[in-house]
Amino acid sequence: MAEAEGLDPRFSREDWGDLIFYRFMKVPNGVRAYFTTRSGGVSKHPYESLNLGFHVGDDPEAVSANRRLLASVLGLDSARITSPRQRHTAEVCMLSDDTYAGAGSKSEDSTFDSCDGLITSMKETPLLLHFADCVPVILAAEGKTQWISVLHAGREGLIQGVVRNGVISILKQDVPPESITAAVGPAIGPCCYEVDDETASRFADQFGPGLVNGNYLDLPGAVRKELSAAGILEENIAFMDRCTACSSGFYSYRRDGITGRHGAIAWIE
Ligand SMILES: [Zn+2]
Repeated sequence: MAEAEGLDPRFSREDWGDLIFYRFMKVPNGVRAYFTTRSGGVSKHPYESLNLGFHVGDDPEAVSANRRLLASVLGLDSARITSPRQRHTAEVCMLSDDTYAGAGSKSEDSTFDSCDGLITSMKETPLLLHFADCVPVILAAEGKTQWISVLHAGREGLIQGVVRNGVISILKQDVPPESITAAVGPAIGPCCYEVDDETASRFADQFGPGLVNGNYLDLPGAVRKELSAAGILEENIAFMDRCTACSSGFYSYRRDGITGRHGAIAWIE
């Protein structure tokens, strides 16, 4: 993958052997944020190879091995990695208690069922969400303490307001709005995301006609609009600008149907 070409300098590509990650750098000291790719794992076709999702029909042993691999190169405890059971909602949940840390780390089941965003100020408790075309968003901020949030923004979640809810959840924690930074990871681009007439017009009603070209929707563009409207400074929003359907380095549900999931993961050290 010649993926580093044309990359926003706020991201850096990191190769750990066969594992390839994209790190978001514009975060407070002590916060780490990464987007994973599909390379370097143990899952077999059609999940090859670093599938992080238990819910897609892959061998759970392979998914666990991939998550241990991820944890070991990033210096994390895989049992602390916390994930919701994503359902394309606008629900953003707070992780504030050790009891719930590590939910979703061993199977699809999670305390955070029907939730598409997590927020925390807990240290050493990574938040991991799963993607194959939907837009991954990582938020980081620093007030009296540090805060992170990871959001899953597909078309439905976006329309319902998952991105707005994520920003509002962080703003409620008494952080200066100008301290919030946002990373928008690999997602299906306006080049590849065609929908039917009714869906296109519903999307245009919500986000404006500029984000619909024919029947092609611009999901990352809608995320930008939502982040800005919620009060994040334009210069604090960084886009990886990688289309999952165009690039073989990522999972794409649109392109492949049955497939794995790459991840967006963030934590406070
Ligand atoms: Zn594309």
